[in-house]
Amino acid sequence: MNAMAPAAPAAERIVVPVALAERSYDILIGRHQLCEAAEVIASRFPGARAAIVTDENLAALHAPALEACLQQAGVSATRLTVPPGEASKSYARFIELCDGLLAAKIERNDLVIALGGGVVGDLSGFAASVLRRGVRLVQIPTSLLAQVDSSVGGKTGINSSHGKNLIGAFHQPALVVCDTALLDTLSEREFKAGYAEVVKYGLIDDPAFFDWCEVNWRRVMEGGPERDHAVATACRAKAAVVARDEREDGDRALLNLGHTFAHALERLTRYDSSRLVHGEAVAIGLCLAFRFSQRLGLCPGQDAGSVAAHLAAVGLPTRLQDVPGGSGTAAEIVEAMTQDKKVKRGALTFILAHGIGRSFIAPGVAAEAAHGFIESELAGT
Ligand code: NAD
Repeated sequence: MNAMAPAAPAAERIVVPVALAERSYDILIGRHQLCEAAEVIASRFPGARAAIVTDENLAALHAPALEACLQQAGVSATRLTVPPGEASKSYARFIELCDGLLAAKIERNDLVIALGGGVVGDLSGFAASVLRRGVRLVQIPTSLLAQVDSSVGGKTGINSSHGKNLIGAFHQPALVVCDTALLDTLSEREFKAGYAEVVKYGLIDDPAFFDWCEVNWRRVMEGGPERDHAVATACRAKAAVVARDEREDGDRALLNLGHTFAHALERLTRYDSSRLVHGEAVAIGLCLAFRFSQRLGLCPGQDAGSVAAHLAAVGLPTRLQDVPGGSGTAAEIVEAMTQDKKVKRGALTFILAHGIGRSFIAPGVAAEAAHGFIESELAGT
């Protein structure tokens, strides 16, 4: 065995299929899966060369192990590195990356391997979607958020000065490998932020999973079978929604629970990760979606309270007041929400809930109702 390969043996692997006809693919989940993944790549894509796209943090932490595994499996690989952080989802980095992939002579039958969090996945997925009119993408997500959300489903893209993720493409990966041992090096803050997206699946339509999260969240953080179970449950839920509605013409929008608020908060904090990272904004957004539902008379207060209590117990922000440096006024928040791409002819679309696990799409919510709700949240009433 190569000296750089992970020392621990691969644990049992869970396979979650994503059923999308000719674009179907598998999500492989388990601890220490990098060398297994390299073998799968070598057998499923014989002769393909690989360009590993990663960020500077992962280049130091996990890229060498992946490279060793690929070499052992006989896959020739080159590496392209971007700076960590949301700022890398930019036109400038996108152009640089496309040129880097061309300089590395990545051809139509080769592979782009995204080794990183959602930023690397979104950026390199978008580059893969347009490079030579589309090359295959393998996602090896390294953050919890990327393992349970962004690496599955084919949404790729970069940000514009007009808003987040406004330039992009649907480009399904050919394979996703969630090596849950990679999460051992993730900071506690980033782990918790990703955990908000895990809880989201329980809140959408799986109340039993929310109950499970309340009991098991500490063990999910520690690693072991509970972590794999949480990632697999989230991936199964996302795979099912994506298989029903690949391009978000219908109920894929449920995955945006909490996100209308979250995107507005990210926008108002200028995507400054020292103030708020995506998953933290989602945690506040989930609480706001439930409290807004409660205020509209749709959802029992007890359920809204349970959502906030669980996220707070984990150590996530749950209120507008928790945004470091302030969230902005009600008018600013509503204005930021109307910039979101889910706005149709000025009416706001929210994902609301009749209770935990009972979310639904609510198009045409009046801006005044949202404004009144946010004012009351800011006033703490
Ligand atoms: P990220 O990619 O910026 O990663 C967060 C930080 O953690 C970075 O500094 C990164 O270097 C570091 N990191 C990642 N894995 C690590 C590891 N194993 N060990 C140590 N450090 C590690 O952020 P993210 O939260 O993974 O993703 C957020 C992005 O995902 C946003 O741009 C968001 O828009 C996007 N997103 C996309 C989708 C989609 O469907 N495409 C869905 C949700 C979110």
